[in-house]
Amino acid sequence: MGVKLTILGSGTSDGIPVVGCDCPVCRSKDTRDKRMRTSLSVEGNRGERAVIDTGPEFRLQAIRAGIKKLDGVFLTHAHADHVHGLDDVRPLSRTMPLPVYGNSKTIDEIRERFSYIFKETQRGGGKPRIIPTPVSEPVVLGGLTFTPIPVKHGILDILGWKIEEEAHLPCAGTISAVYLTDTSEIPAASRKIIGKPAILIIGALRTRPHETHFSFEQALTAAAEIGAERVCLTHICHDYPHEEIIEFCRNFMKERSLKGISTEPSYDGLEITL
Ligand SMILES: [Zn+2]
Ligand SMILES: [Zn+2]
Ligand SMILES: [Zn+2]
Repeated sequence: MGVKLTILGSGTSDGIPVVGCDCPVCRSKDTRDKRMRTSLSVEGNRGERAVIDTGPEFRLQAIRAGIKKLDGVFLTHAHADHVHGLDDVRPLSRTMPLPVYGNSKTIDEIRERFSYIFKETQRGGGKPRIIPTPVSEPVVLGGLTFTPIPVKHGILDILGWKIEEEAHLPCAGTISAVYLTDTSEIPAASRKIIGKPAILIIGALRTRPHETHFSFEQALTAAAEIGAERVCLTHICHDYPHEEIIEFCRNFMKERSLKGISTEPSYDGLEITL
């Protein structure tokens, strides 16, 4: 086995169903229309395991995916839907403090938002043991390398992550996957870091434009330019059911005459082995 990716959550900040919403998607019986907040699990060939983002449902997602240990948490940014489950890494940080990586702004916000973790509080109170670590260079976890990719989320400078693993067969090249959520612009310098990954998981909110997120069309256009072999959309809102997003992807590919690239919406629990 090479790298195993598991989509822990594929929904936008509200999740689906949205609290108080009676729309057809929020009432859908299709399990793929139940979307927890966006997060990814990454497992390497040597048993290394990390997650990208720890949203409000991190505990449920970790139980569902059978996460028994973590070697690192990689953050894209500090919005509530990406970090407010961070306290729930507690049982996974008992034996070893857990490094939490992000850009310096995100790490500053984590220190502020989770200030109780770093304060002297009552004795015996359980707190996660985390090591907030600002990074701008690649991070190596066993055989996996996580490279930060600066992208724009509206006016915010946030990170996507490139995940690479050296192939265990000498004839095969490096396995590479790219995860870009909450993105509204990919700077030219970051396109160079991205290269041509085997898989691109990319945030795509809905069909209508949004100031801080790619629409389906913008995400698929960026993906086609990048030239990933497989593209999975994530951070999806309740405007369309899963089946219709599959249809949207299919039509987009047909209209642009794009061949040799597979595009689909992701869903919670989707496993991808590279
Ligand atoms: Zn988000
Ligand atoms: Zn709804
Ligand atoms: Zn965000």
